[in-house]
Amino acid sequence: MAEGSYRLLLVEDNPADAGLVAELLEEAADPGFTLTHADRLEAALALAEARSFDVVLLDLGLPDSQGLDTARRFRGSSCCPVVILTGQEDQTLGRQAIQLGVQDFIPKADLAPAMLERVLHYAVERHRTQMRLRLLAAAFESGQAVLITDAAGTIEEVNSAFTAITGYEAEEVIGCNPNMLASGYHDAKFYRALWDQILEEGHWEGEIWNRHKSGRIFPEWESISAVRNEAGEVERFVAVFHDISEQKRLEAELERLATHDRLTGIYNRTKLYELLGQAQAAHERYGIPFSVIMFDIDHFKAINDRQGHHAGDQALCELTRRIEENLRDTDALGRWGGEEFLVLATSSDIEATARLAERLRAVVAGTPFEAVGTVTISLGVASIQPGESVTQLEERADRALYMAKGTGRNRVERADSAIATG
Ligand code: GH3
Ligand code: MG
Ligand code: MG
Repeated sequence: MAEGSYRLLLVEDNPADAGLVAELLEEAADPGFTLTHADRLEAALALAEARSFDVVLLDLGLPDSQGLDTARRFRGSSCCPVVILTGQEDQTLGRQAIQLGVQDFIPKADLAPAMLERVLHYAVERHRTQMRLRLLAAAFESGQAVLITDAAGTIEEVNSAFTAITGYEAEEVIGCNPNMLASGYHDAKFYRALWDQILEEGHWEGEIWNRHKSGRIFPEWESISAVRNEAGEVERFVAVFHDISEQKRLEAELERLATHDRLTGIYNRTKLYELLGQAQAAHERYGIPFSVIMFDIDHFKAINDRQGHHAGDQALCELTRRIEENLRDTDALGRWGGEEFLVLATSSDIEATARLAERLRAVVAGTPFEAVGTVTISLGVASIQPGESVTQLEERADRALYMAKGTGRNRVERADSAIATG
């Protein structure tokens, strides 16, 4: 038995024909054939199930099966490549069998050594190629969108995930340039850098915003490769991508939860500290002033007690809406604690900030709240002093707020400009 020889299953009930085939294959050169013989279809099927064969040579006329039915039944229960043996007059039968998926047919009268060897060899190779192609096709239809262009960038092929993600059918994009998907989100410099990298390194990977057929713009994670031939020339470009909208939405949601107050939707204390730190850095480096307004609802405990906690919550939301409406885009509002808030007024000195605070006081007190009626706030204002820390600034604002409370509430107090020590 030759090493690496083709394992052939010969299914032939006529001893003379079987003997002839065995004899012809005896002479076959490298890699040669290892022959197993069955004289009935049932026996052949049992063998094919128990062992693996590279190719099957199948006589269609057997004691337990006749004609095309033999080919159909064998193909139905084995995925081995099949070559059938037919009588001289059965050319049509051979072609019909090929329709059923057999690899080839040989009229018995034509049997000759070189020809038999060649037909069996090609049957095996063709079958292997078909299996490989089927595997590639399955990979091509995986969840990722695939787009293939020629060297000039003209789309040659896309898969069904491409259609699912972009909304375009293959017929609508084949022959076009992929820039039909461009969203306008990236500038020319972005695409130039992308193509420079593909041509230099053969590969680019990153986030691209494209336009769905419906007009909607969405983010993709895309990987583009240049495919070169043996001579090193670019033959094709292959892009593989998937939609990352959902991933980005979740990231944004997490970011939001980490930096915003759940009830009112304004910044939380963590985010306020971050912004205060940035403002202080800009103050130290460039001398840009900034101020804070700390404010607290007057007698909020009584509001809660009278109207209920839920109404209290609604009042907190209504309050933050009113305040936000009266701030500049560059000011930031955050929830400092339960019913205590802080406004960071960037590039704002004490005079301007005190005027802002007075306006906020009036806006709150001027119109009764939907949920709880009239609400007032007390406010403390402080501006950053040279060499002052955020904590010291915060303490001064807090003391000013405490003074506003102590001197009757519904008032604005400016902080003493002397920095607190200790
Ligand atoms: P003052 O004028 O001195 O500020 O009096 P006050 O009653 O507003 O102050 P106090 O600190 O005694 O009470 C604050 C109240 O705020 C108590 C607390 O239950 C309520 N509070 C804090 N956070 C929330 C919240 O998220 N929702 C509601 N409904 N109430 C809250
Ligand atoms: Mg026969
Ligand atoms: Mg209060």
